Amino acid sequence: MTEVPKVYYGSTIVGRAARYACLSAKLDSILEHLDLSTIEKRDKVAIKMHLGFNDGYQTVPVYFVRKVAEAVKKQGAFPFVTDNPSAVYNAADRGYTSETCGCPIIPIAGVKDGYVTKKEIDFNGLDSLDAAGVLLDSDVLVNLTHVKGHGACGYGGAFKNIALGGYGASSRWNKIHGVEQFLKYFDETRMTKEHLVKLRAACPRNAPNWNEKKGAASLSFYECDQCHGKDKPCIEADAGLTDWSINEENFVAFQEIMAIAAKHIIDSFDADKLFHLNFMMNITPYCDCMGMGMPNVIEDIGIVGSRDIVAVEAASLDLIAKQGLLVDTVKKIPENYMRSNPDGDSSLHPWQLLHGPFKNPYKVVEYGAARGMGSMKYELVELLSAEETSKGEPPKIEYEGGPTFY
Ligand code: SF4
Repeated sequence: MTEVPKVYYGSTIVGRAARYACLSAKLDSILEHLDLSTIEKRDKVAIKMHLGFNDGYQTVPVYFVRKVAEAVKKQGAFPFVTDNPSAVYNAADRGYTSETCGCPIIPIAGVKDGYVTKKEIDFNGLDSLDAAGVLLDSDVLVNLTHVKGHGACGYGGAFKNIALGGYGASSRWNKIHGVEQFLKYFDETRMTKEHLVKLRAACPRNAPNWNEKKGAASLSFYECDQCHGKDKPCIEADAGLTDWSINEENFVAFQEIMAIAAKHIIDSFDADKLFHLNFMMNITPYCDCMGMGMPNVIEDIGIVGSRDIVAVEAASLDLIAKQGLLVDTVKKIPENYMRSNPDGDSSLHPWQLLHGPFKNPYKVVEYGAARGMGSMKYELVELLSAEETSKGEPPKIEYEGGPTFY
């Protein structure tokens, strides 16, 4: 019988005001349990993360990135942090430098995002994707992910970190972010700019768009929350003129392409050279590439780590489901920016409550499991739980007890 993969979990809830009980110690323990000894001396280790953009500071704190880099160095290997060239170029603005991370920061597909290898696919009109060359050159992948929401698919986790982040810009923006448009959802021959303007005016999220250059209409699937399964003013405004429709298949296509893209990256590494760490802290509603501060919509949960990408993602989604959406926070936010399902339907995942029922975050995990990328069944192993660390004598709190500046 195949062994159920373990997912190691460190919660932000701690049992003592003690260094041995805090999240930092929990990350050390997760890394120890993941057993980095399969990283060989001189291996080139890509720590793939999202370094944020512009004023987007709610990414993985550099403190933890440095700890991961140091743990890799202990194996005699050469870690480097990697992300797209824009995020790398201005990473210092958000505190990420080679000095603070403890290793170099290298653009994932070269300085112009053009150092890529073609990966053939056959999905919804797409025949290839350009995988990032620096990532593929590496011996080891540490998939270090900031978990957050995402407009296109509801959730951005371990899959998204490498499915979009592991590819050059043209694949990211023009191919993957565009796949929803392949299955037709209105009759183009009957669409006019005037009619589209009517649909856009009816939509509380301005999701229908008119592209002046192309003279064409489209729906921003990123913005559309499917009016949370209720009446859809865009369809009412269309009144059947173009057969405008809001279909689950279009939304789900993004989840499937993420699984396809992530698999190509995963398959380029030996199984014992893959490590996945999901940081569920500063859980914002939208992606780090938005480049701005956002309200956190789910309370901090902690860190999970596994060698199985499907398991780590399923565990993260289950923990988020258990935690729930910060509904009162979302209610304070103007509706044209963010609105949650008015019924708070408990059968929906928190990311569906925020981004709409067709953005089911488990879809990518299911597609990944169906492609043999890992297991949706997992064993969650909590390390240094609050209960465990609360036992015994409390330590003497040191404050600045060691050698100090004074
Ligand atoms: S379903 Fe709602 S959010 Fe989506 S385009 Fe229509 S009106 Fe806008």
